[in-house]
Amino acid sequence: MKFKRTLITLVGVASAALAHAQANWPTKPITLVVPFAAGGPTDVVARTLGASMTKSLGQTVVIENKLGAGGTVAANYVAKAAPDGYTFFIHHNGMATAPALYRKLAFDPLKDFEFVSQAVEVPMTLLARKDFPANNLPEMIAYIKANQAKINLANAGLGAVSQLCGMLFQRAIGVQLTEVPFQGTAPAMNALLGGQVDVLCDQTTQTVPQIKAGSVKLYGVTTKARVKVLPNAPTLAEQGLKDFEVVVWHGIYAPKGTPKPVIERMNMAVRTALKDPDVIKRMDDLGAEIVPDATNTPDALHHWLQSEIGKWGPVIKAGGKFAD
Ligand code: ASP
Repeated sequence: MKFKRTLITLVGVASAALAHAQANWPTKPITLVVPFAAGGPTDVVARTLGASMTKSLGQTVVIENKLGAGGTVAANYVAKAAPDGYTFFIHHNGMATAPALYRKLAFDPLKDFEFVSQAVEVPMTLLARKDFPANNLPEMIAYIKANQAKINLANAGLGAVSQLCGMLFQRAIGVQLTEVPFQGTAPAMNALLGGQVDVLCDQTTQTVPQIKAGSVKLYGVTTKARVKVLPNAPTLAEQGLKDFEVVVWHGIYAPKGTPKPVIERMNMAVRTALKDPDVIKRMDDLGAEIVPDATNTPDALHHWLQSEIGKWGPVIKAGGKFAD
């Protein structure tokens, strides 16, 4: 009887402590894991949001870049991290393409995570090195077809959106190029600027400054309609690649089991950051569109990811490109 009373007291104390910790979350710095190299397009979004959330949460949001396998290394790391409310993850369409690209994925995007919020949607741009011998998309396609054996295409690994865009572009024009994977498109862009690689498809959150500086050649954007930040850039679709569309969305996740009150607070913190004038300006300057606040809920991200997994699975399987 005495043991039972002690146990009840202990459980009582423990749950009170937990409730207190959740009520006072965050009480220490929070880690936001980024699956690609620092300085790249995903990192830019994470650091911009992180700086603003640090202000509203009163605790530092630490960006941790965990690299490898097109983002799946970082996803697996977060899936297995302690659900204590201090580890979060930002990832893009790669969360939806990984199940179709990897035969043996060490995590389940739909089961191993709590869904926090979405963030921004970003167009991609098809680029080549500055001295690439083509001045528009038809010339680029003709040159690639005539020289496909010697042209290489950079990307950020299997599961990256640069890889997805590159795969869809190759399929659209009927070529197979040598793909050169990097740990992110920041190093891929450096290789493009250095002329070590020829072609790269990447998000405007990285490419706009290089395009405006004229240090790369731009052949088109991957959205259905032209984008405000590059008004003179034609879409790939309007130049003949019918229905070509890749828009990069971003989700924020936590390990499964992270307490609901913390998820709700983090959802609110992200949405507050997305209303921060500094964040709005920075994202606007880089061509990123902030998702509508009213629908930016954990459930909305869950349903969106489900639909994206359903969309990209057959597209990827049709191409027969997998990894064990
Ligand atoms: N998001 C880029 C990609 O998937 C990689 C990066 O952010 O560095 O291709």
